[in-house]
Amino acid sequence: MIEYELKGPLSQEQTRSRLTLSLKENKFPQAVIIDGLPGVGKKALAMELAKALTCTDSTQRPCGHCFYCKMVEDPGAVKQWLIPLESKEAKAKSASEVKEGSTAKTVDDYTQFYLEKLKENPYSINYLSKAAEISVDLVRSLKGRFGLKNNEIRCVIIAEADTMNESASNALLKILEEVPSNTYFILTTHSKEHLLQTIRSRCLSVHLNTLSSKEVKAIASQYTPEGISKEVLGLSLGSVGRAIYFAEILPKIQDLALEFLKESWLQNHSNLFFSLESADFKEASNAILFLELLGFLVNDLIRYISESPIRLSSLTLAFVEDLATLPSLEALSVALEAIHEASFKISTRRTGPLMVLQALSISIFDGYR
Ligand SMILES: [Zn+2]
Repeated sequence: MIEYELKGPLSQEQTRSRLTLSLKENKFPQAVIIDGLPGVGKKALAMELAKALTCTDSTQRPCGHCFYCKMVEDPGAVKQWLIPLESKEAKAKSASEVKEGSTAKTVDDYTQFYLEKLKENPYSINYLSKAAEISVDLVRSLKGRFGLKNNEIRCVIIAEADTMNESASNALLKILEEVPSNTYFILTTHSKEHLLQTIRSRCLSVHLNTLSSKEVKAIASQYTPEGISKEVLGLSLGSVGRAIYFAEILPKIQDLALEFLKESWLQNHSNLFFSLESADFKEASNAILFLELLGFLVNDLIRYISESPIRLSSLTLAFVEDLATLPSLEALSVALEAIHEASFKISTRRTGPLMVLQALSISIFDGYR
């Protein structure tokens, strides 16, 4: 009798026991989708599953020390993963096409580069560039991995499966329609609804819950020398990846967020424009997370005025102390709406992030004035 145990935080126990049961009963589905907020540990769980499925220990799986368990930890095991790449990276040659002695980077080299980052921190929410996607060529490369007809169990983790474009999705669907025996696919995504319905219907779907503050703090602290402050914990929304991101970035952007609200409120735009230009908002994701911080601050000000408990205490109080007159509740709710709109504009990529932020600084309190 083989025992299975998947490691992970208590808040996600229910999902793990469901998976453990199907492993024990030898009924594990050949394709699984793990979905949940960015940074809650979908890839960490996928790696636990990959170990459990491929482990060769006769009593306890994953054992953590057999060849197959170790392989899951190895960034060089590129065949176990499908990772989104930028289009020029995905168009690079495959390892078999490169002549001996060539220094040209292959698709495997690029994949390994991202896997190194991922295995250092499987909770990271910014290990890829935003332009990365799973192309049809990457999906087709899966086929070549299943040539060997032996008893070895193969498991492929498809990270950020929602970045598959249409032709990639259709190519994956074809593979899922006839999954080779001894082969398992684990898809991870933060938005299941972006996957084809026909793909979803071929997979078992499991959802990964957000974590308790205590769990976020305990896990995120292992990856951040700065430690996890109360403010960072508030911004994390139960996601370890968000906590790690904000622990690093908050000291760099909190002053800008305060300046943004203050100067917009006082209508001093020229200095603010300059500060925004010097900050790094080339990546849309950075700008969206900055807007989230602004939204948190505005929400906190609303709470402060209505005498509810605030979440970003030091930041919010700094803002309150800095201004002679605070924006009214009405002005703040108008601002909140404008922030959401700006975030939407950036995510749909119609306008560049910097331009959206500059326009927002002029118009954030407009509906009110
Ligand atoms: Zn093992």
